[in-house]
Amino acid sequence: MNIKRKEALLEKLNNEITKCRKCDLWKKRQNAVPGEGRPDAEIMFIGEAPGRQEDIQGRPFVGAAGKLLDALISSILGLRREDVFITNVVKCRPPNNRDPLPEEISICSPYLDQQISIIKPKIIVCLGRHSSKYILSKIGIKVKSILSVRGKTYNMRLDNHDIIILSTIHPAAALYRPPWKKMLDEDFRKIHDLLNLKKRKITIDSFF
Ligand code: URA
Ligand code: SF4
Repeated sequence: MNIKRKEALLEKLNNEITKCRKCDLWKKRQNAVPGEGRPDAEIMFIGEAPGRQEDIQGRPFVGAAGKLLDALISSILGLRREDVFITNVVKCRPPNNRDPLPEEISICSPYLDQQISIIKPKIIVCLGRHSSKYILSKIGIKVKSILSVRGKTYNMRLDNHDIIILSTIHPAAALYRPPWKKMLDEDFRKIHDLLNLKKRKITIDSFF
């Protein structure tokens, strides 16, 4: 699918999300937060749900956790925020930042599934337990705690397309916990290596 087509499909989906009233979270939102980034991004970051700043601005990861995410994307991956795609499992803010309910996740997640199908990234990075739990359940993996899956890579096949899944610590959880921040850094270095590996593979394939 070419980039223009992807862009148009994502735009259509954004319009649906912005108006969505499928679960009760619409009642207290200021803005739905569909997500943003390159329609053909190689890497997609999936968080939990919008927080206060995200709800105010209608954009994902723009508060304190977002600042850390931006810093990791630029300092370790050498990319800009605009080079990747950033979204959440649930598109509207749960009141007082409570955990999204299983029912909210099951009602909202088809939007995320459609975003993944359109973008077809090479790597999905799950930020935190909720995102990891949702994405890894698609390949039959049960997530007991984030520490049991973080830093590991898994493969998912979607419409003849291979996607690498990597889970890591949620940036908000790493903000005030240095040992968790260290794990987050480590996992980002792994993402960097995976991206380069993919690039090398493409070069070798096209060379032969
Ligand atoms: N935390 C999340 O999980 N998502 C955001 O967009 C912001 C903070
Ligand atoms: Fe719709 Fe998702 Fe918002 Fe619920 S959280 S109202 S399902 S967009």
